[in-house]
Amino acid sequence: MSELALRAAKLDGQDDLAGVRERFVLDEVVYLDGNSLGALPAHVPGRVEDVVRRQWGELRIRSWDESGWWTAPERIGDRIAPLVGAAAGQIVVADSTSVNVFKALVGAVRLAGEGRDEILVDATTFPTDGYIAESAARLTGCALRPLAPGEVPAALGDRTAAVLLNHVDYRTGRLHDLPSLTAAVHAAGAVSVWDLCHSAGALPVGLDEHGVDLAVGCTYKYLNGGPGSPAYLYVRRELQDRFDSPLPGWNSHAEPFGMRSAYEPAAGAPRGRVGTPDILSMLALEAALEVWEGVPVAAVRAKSLALTDFFLECVEAYVPAGRVACVTPVAHEERGSQIALRCADAGDVMKRLIERGVVGDFRQPDVLRFGFTPLYVGFADVERAARVLGEVAGAAAGRS
Ligand SMILES: *Cc1c(COP(=O)(O)O)cnc(C)c1O
Repeated sequence: MSELALRAAKLDGQDDLAGVRERFVLDEVVYLDGNSLGALPAHVPGRVEDVVRRQWGELRIRSWDESGWWTAPERIGDRIAPLVGAAAGQIVVADSTSVNVFKALVGAVRLAGEGRDEILVDATTFPTDGYIAESAARLTGCALRPLAPGEVPAALGDRTAAVLLNHVDYRTGRLHDLPSLTAAVHAAGAVSVWDLCHSAGALPVGLDEHGVDLAVGCTYKYLNGGPGSPAYLYVRRELQDRFDSPLPGWNSHAEPFGMRSAYEPAAGAPRGRVGTPDILSMLALEAALEVWEGVPVAAVRAKSLALTDFFLECVEAYVPAGRVACVTPVAHEERGSQIALRCADAGDVMKRLIERGVVGDFRQPDVLRFGFTPLYVGFADVERAARVLGEVAGAAAGRS
């Protein structure tokens, strides 16, 4: 065994979260794509079968009440809340992230009030956020200014209505400074909207602690909710009464079954709802969230940093010099839970890695992306992934 393989075995032996891995369906593959689609928690298929066969098949319409379908969006929101540092009653699970970005951003501009007609958006954002921001700006009569998150403090002013930022950059894995950026947005009197897709479930977010106004995120990445599982929307408690959703569907009405022609928004988190919830996906997510039982987010963060540090060390040892360049910041306070490596033939290299049982992903034009989900990735996985990458990248270099 190599020195690194021995170290990996030792680190796995000392890992407090090692047992959590048993809660997932895994195989021989080293799965480093949980930042795109989390692995399947082992108990979810049985629970989904019960939802379909008994709750739907037998109870039918009664399940809206008796199986808790109607209140699932808020109930599951409260289950996500501790993972992102939020007290109960502020998160609703609904729709896709894209739709929630729309609700949050238009809602933020309406909260900001008169005289503020500019939206700042992360220029490196996941594309959907940028597209939605452009449309939200047009609808609200705002100008849209795309800029790097680091440029936000200097760009803020008394015309800034809202600022939409990604907590972790999906491509580079860079973690942005949520506490200080949120404080800067507030100092300018503007409203902050954070997209937590690549941070929730991977590191502490501290929504309440840092006074974030609105936030959105998906649940199929580090939260393992399954393909297309619904996203969530956080509206800080003090803003809930003034939150004016641009999609006021009947589910967000104060009295949805009053069937009244005049709209009157519900109080609290339900105001973020729109239409009938997608119950099958939603309840699969609810079951999936049980894997977090007894798992402190701080321990997840500590292991995530140890995994990514160890991966960088193994890449350095195994991959021929100059074949890849790390684009993820080395400083812990600027690193999410993934490592992105620039590599000229990244598409080809990732294809070969997957053939060899190491699954990451490829992002155009030249990025190899490896996500480290501390709940089920171990140090031996990390060592093997880097070793296979070294072999694949070395062989490809030899051929050319
Ligand atoms: C994954 C991701 C999304 C996905 O949006 P959907 O509407 O769920 O498809 C949005 N924003 C960011 C930053 C993401 O990483």
